[in-house]
Amino acid sequence: MSDIFDDRKKALEEDYFRRKEQESIEKMRQKMAAEQQAQAAEAKRLECPRGDGKMTTLTFEGVEIDRCDVCGGVWLDKGELEQLREKESGGWFSRWR
Ligand SMILES: [Zn+2]
Repeated sequence: MSDIFDDRKKALEEDYFRRKEQESIEKMRQKMAAEQQAQAAEAKRLECPRGDGKMTTLTFEGVEIDRCDVCGGVWLDKGELEQLREKESGGWFSRWR
């Protein structure tokens, strides 16, 4: 094996490992960013008024409502009840009322 070939091989290996390193750093960065986003989203979640769960935002009939993971309680912001009532015509909501 000649020195030139050896050098070339080394250079290729270095390049390969450098790229691998950059890839893993980039992956780590993305993972950290995703975790931070998840944590921020978790921190923003409302606590259930009953105190034993966290509210998950979901969209029902085009209206965003918060529902508790634990007890299933539903939280409506101001005006959301009216929005649901307007959309409702003989479905579950009027039966519920
Ligand atoms: Zn609850």
